Amino acid sequence: MATGAWYTDRMGTRTFFALDLPEDVRDAIVEAQGRLRSAADGKVNWVERENLHVTMKFLGDVHDADLADALRAAASAVASVPRFELDVRGVSTVPPGGRDLRMLWVNVHEPTGRLVELFGALEDALASQGFGREDREFHAHVTLARVKHLRDARPLREAVKDLADADFGSATAAELTAYASRLTPQGPVYTPMGRLPLGT
Ligand code: NAP
Repeated sequence: MATGAWYTDRMGTRTFFALDLPEDVRDAIVEAQGRLRSAADGKVNWVERENLHVTMKFLGDVHDADLADALRAAASAVASVPRFELDVRGVSTVPPGGRDLRMLWVNVHEPTGRLVELFGALEDALASQGFGREDREFHAHVTLARVKHLRDARPLREAVKDLADADFGSATAAELTAYASRLTPQGPVYTPMGRLPLGT
């Protein structure tokens, strides 16, 4: 596992694991964000191009003394799952309908089951290190935007409908990245701490 510099503070390191996306998929998502932006009447935090990713596991603050073991356990689990292809397709909202609208995301499709296998392997490995399991069912996605408030959600919901089947391309999941996240008033700053290769 290759490692780099990372951000820590007294609370430890805010840590998550994610699949990164190739440039062409990011380009297509940024273009879609541009189309949606003009329909958003309110305050919306649009995810920066460099921050677009598929979260596989969020750990929150990890004490510095526990970080190396967590990364080692994750690396070993990830290596047991063969690499696979993802299709990035279709914009959805959370929740799916109604006046409230909290998030916009792009769906991630992987028909062979390896994505779910990767999630399960990570969950098991990190649970063995004392990290909690997700209480929600895993739904792979790329977050495009987090809505703070909208005067009227309807125009944005209409714009999302036009992108319900939009194809953003495909990606090879060959490695998982362990990120340190630092929250700032201008938005989160992610710093890679390690690249964890999948199996072949
Ligand atoms: P983060 O909280 O460090 O989260 C990193 C990743 O982990 C996210 O992609 C998120 O998943 C996932 N995650 C976070 N909490 C989770 C939880 N409790 N359970 C499961 N997964 C979780 O960083 P962030 O979410 O990218 O941004 C943090 C905040 O900064 C957001 O509320 C954002 O609105 C705010 N902010 C953003 C901007 C901006 O973007 N311009 C400006 C100011 C403030 P997902 O993949 O589901 O998102």
